[in-house]
Amino acid sequence: MGKVNFNAGPSILPKAAFENASKAVLDFDGIGLSILEISHRSKEFQAVMDETVALFKELLNVPEGYHVLFVGGGASTQFFHVPYNLLEKKAGYVNTGVWAKKAMKEAVNFGETVCVASSEDKNFTYVPKGYDIPTDLDYLHITTNNTIYGTELHYDMDSPVTLVADMSSDIMSRPVDVSKYGLIYGGAQKNLAPAGVTFVIVREDILGKVSRKLPSMVDYRSHISGGSMYNTPPVFPIFVMRETLRWLKALGGVEKMYEINKRKAAILYDEIDANPLFKGTAVKEDRSLMNVCFVMNDGYEELADEFRTFATERGMVGIKGHRLVGGFRASIYNAMPEEGVKALVDVMREFAKIKG
Ligand SMILES: *Cc1c(COP(=O)(O)O)cnc(C)c1O
Repeated sequence: MGKVNFNAGPSILPKAAFENASKAVLDFDGIGLSILEISHRSKEFQAVMDETVALFKELLNVPEGYHVLFVGGGASTQFFHVPYNLLEKKAGYVNTGVWAKKAMKEAVNFGETVCVASSEDKNFTYVPKGYDIPTDLDYLHITTNNTIYGTELHYDMDSPVTLVADMSSDIMSRPVDVSKYGLIYGGAQKNLAPAGVTFVIVREDILGKVSRKLPSMVDYRSHISGGSMYNTPPVFPIFVMRETLRWLKALGGVEKMYEINKRKAAILYDEIDANPLFKGTAVKEDRSLMNVCFVMNDGYEELADEFRTFATERGMVGIKGHRLVGGFRASIYNAMPEEGVKALVDVMREFAKIKG
């Protein structure tokens, strides 16, 4: 096979999405205009928006009372939009790594912010569980998949207060019980779309409770009443997201995707555990199905650069680990085919045969 793309984000998307996107850039739906030059208020784009929202709701089984919004600014903008809209007195954050910390850093500007649990003591190699959640919080913020450290919360936790989740890097990778959350957000560039669009799933009844004045662009209610068209939405990324969601639906939806993702991840983790040259960095029960982090095993540390070159020469792209973890990270998002994972496993075996 050619190049196998393990980039952490922006990242691999279904080939069908690329093909249909490239066609739409030249002539969108046979209307003789590019998707890049039509009005976001045209009936043609309105149909794209409506279908994308409908697919998003259908695939994640979003209950009544929730809105799905597509906005700009990335997950990092949501880091302050969330407290702006929801933090009156006190917010709780679970510190599971860099992104969680960045989210917490913004909340501090809006009210009392407490760190309810943290895995910093072990360089974020696990996900804290079983901690007490204070009941006087306006909301509790969690990060369900820690892209940099390769840890993931594999279930929807119960919370006595409104639960807010950054699902940037595991959205649509498994079924989610949306009813357990007040708000879910994320940058779409990990699993759904090119960079530029941010998804927000919000339960309407949590809004409008803070006493501060909200700039319109910050207020989720503007985007709800505007149907994600309060201002010009990221038209092209939304179009590509629709193509990704169509692909996901045709494949059998999120349940089916979850099965495939578990199988793909097991292939790679099994190799990491069996291969004497490598070891995983996250504790087993919290291993991410999306971002697989590993390093050279004890005694083989000096082979890291050599393996990176070896793998790159064999078409593996983007496997360098984040600088905070080191080693390697293979991001195996929804669109990564099983053959891609097997190709990496083959490279690891080949390297072990030479060096072991
Ligand atoms: C990538 C990522 C972000 C940052 O997203 P931006 O869209 O670049 O702001 C935040 N949280 C998580 C979990 C991520 O993986």
